[in-house]
Amino acid sequence: MVNNNASAVLLALGTLAKGKEVIVSRGQLVEIGGSFRIPEVMEQSGAILVDVGATNKTHPRDYRSAVTGETALLLHVHTSNYRIVGFTRETTVEELVELGSEYKIPVMSDLGSGFLVDLAKYGLPKEPSVQETVAAGADVVTFSGDKLLGGPRPASSWARNTI
Ligand SMILES: *Cc1c(COP(=O)(O)O)cnc(C)c1O
Repeated sequence: MVNNNASAVLLALGTLAKGKEVIVSRGQLVEIGGSFRIPEVMEQSGAILVDVGATNKTHPRDYRSAVTGETALLLHVHTSNYRIVGFTRETTVEELVELGSEYKIPVMSDLGSGFLVDLAKYGLPKEPSVQETVAAGADVVTFSGDKLLGGPRPASSWARNTI
């Protein structure tokens, strides 16, 4: 447990994939909050970003053809407050886990919000929960302790908690 999810992602990438390749969909190279950007966090961690697919569609075969001897991780990023709609195809965590077990490569899921309850029960849009993602077989799951759980927050993000 660390300061925030951005730190968790940075530490996990640096620990599991420094100097190695991490495959991620072009549709998931998002900026979240004030400064968290997948490509920049990746660079800071020392991992090498291998982006695959297109903005709207990324197929399992895109990840497969990018796997090399240098691949350390398959990364799935939940795009949270950003949606690609219409002619889309996202490779699911389940599909990445299948591919990862074939190639013996771990799968990491950056979930963002960290839902622990099924929001659909309350008539809210379906969001992937932490439990579902762990059950899907992701090896590492990262999420924020303050978005939904309402934990403490560094001062820079004070406004978000207050609003
Ligand atoms: C919010 C978010 C982050 C950053 O989380 P913080 O706790 O604000 O650092 C990282 N990844 C995703 C997918 C997010 O939604």
